[in-house]
Amino acid sequence: MTTPDVISVGYLVAAVLFILGLKGLGRPRTAVRGNLMGATGMLVAILVTLLDQSIISYLALAVALLIGSVVGVLLAVKVKMTSMPELVALFNGFGGGASVLVATASFIEAVDLGSADNRLAIAAGVTALIGAVTFSGSIIAFFKLQESLKGSGFTGLHLVRAAVMLVSVGLVAMVALQPDTRGWLWALVGAGLLLGVLGTIAIGGADMPVVIALLNAFSGVAASATGFVLDNSLLIIAGSLVGASGLILTRIMCTAMNRSIYDVIFSAAPAAAVGRDDSDVYGDRVTATSAEEVAMILEIADRVVIVPGYGLAVAQAQHAVRDLMTSLEASGTEVVFGIHPVAGRMPGHMNVLLAEAEIDYEHLLDMNQVNPTFAQTDVTIVIGANDVVNPSARTDPGSPIAGMPILDVDESRTVIVIKRSLSPGFAGIANPLFAADNTFMLFGDGKQAVLDIVAALVSV
Ligand code: NDP
Repeated sequence: MTTPDVISVGYLVAAVLFILGLKGLGRPRTAVRGNLMGATGMLVAILVTLLDQSIISYLALAVALLIGSVVGVLLAVKVKMTSMPELVALFNGFGGGASVLVATASFIEAVDLGSADNRLAIAAGVTALIGAVTFSGSIIAFFKLQESLKGSGFTGLHLVRAAVMLVSVGLVAMVALQPDTRGWLWALVGAGLLLGVLGTIAIGGADMPVVIALLNAFSGVAASATGFVLDNSLLIIAGSLVGASGLILTRIMCTAMNRSIYDVIFSAAPAAAVGRDDSDVYGDRVTATSAEEVAMILEIADRVVIVPGYGLAVAQAQHAVRDLMTSLEASGTEVVFGIHPVAGRMPGHMNVLLAEAEIDYEHLLDMNQVNPTFAQTDVTIVIGANDVVNPSARTDPGSPIAGMPILDVDESRTVIVIKRSLSPGFAGIANPLFAADNTFMLFGDGKQAVLDIVAALVSV
């Protein structure tokens, strides 16, 4: 077998491993195996790529690999679970930026060698545009998520955006028509960077993580387009897989938040209700409780549903929650977890946290599975969740979250809500659940409150 044959077969094996890996990642039970398959596919891809004759400097590759690995390990160890969306934003941005660098360098080389044709020029132009949009858009998204950038756009932004988009398309055409004129390529990269900034600067609030998912899809499309520039089939396949999965994730998040992708990009995130202060919702109807009282209620419960939210991640209460589950199950109580698709700050946030505490996947029910069961549930314990259990999404058409599918915890016989105060969640709105007749508020840090309940259960 010649070297090109080995490379082709290696790429085919890697592509199959990527597809099988993605399939495995679709279910919690097979996710670890899927992840391993994807990583093996990437290892195969890297190894066979190293056989490529056109690699100029193995030393430069080794140095880049070392720097990348050190940065990657540091980020993986240091970044908190609650800051994961920021990290994903950076990864997307780096992916888009890398596509721009690789595609433009390769195109310029082809032009210099006189081997650039229109097909190559179009692929390089498309990569430069999408990669640059992904890079600058992701950097803005990163700073917005960190709340160090508060920009909200300006009047006429839509028009400026549309104009820059038209100019960008025109520049792709110019790159294709006059590949020898490098100025068109640089102007295109500049227009792409500007478009990324203009596209994300006005997006804020709950929509930002959706934009991250969309930028993830863009980074895949940019990588795929780079594959056409390099004539690399694996890059085309891998980029398409990233692009498609990013789009599917964007759709899932939009559905879970009842927003259309058009609304996310072109209209501001829904504002908190004005003219209604929280005392209208809460009045003196909020009932506070104690860990001892909660333990007594739990003692006689046959079925308990635990609903985790962003506060569980902040409090790092996952291990305490596992202890609570074990303690309840030991006395014959059925315990399941109700997981909302956008609980926390990224899709799958709660699944990852609970898996970290080795809570079996069998215990995790998604929204469609758990909602019909609340009416037969004795006690639902809501830990650090707010918007995803807010019944005004169902009952108040004027609410900023009206129509968002929620967990119907209010249908349970008794609801215990653990949080530190009556402060709102991500959407910034009051939650009538806290003032419902069947709700008891256990105020405090999520982890400490759960540990107190576990201790009280022992002494009941
Ligand atoms: P929320 O953001 O609605 O509420 C979290 C609650 O946690 C707060 O009300 C806070 O109340 C409480 N909390 C914070 N720290 C602690 C602590 N240490 N102990 C106990 N409680 C704590 O969270 P949800 O998970 O219910 O909803 C997620 C929100 O994020 C939704 O609005 C969703 O649309 C949005 N979002 C999610 C995305 C995703 O992919 N997951 C993507 C985009 C947006 P207090 O301060 O009183 O303690």
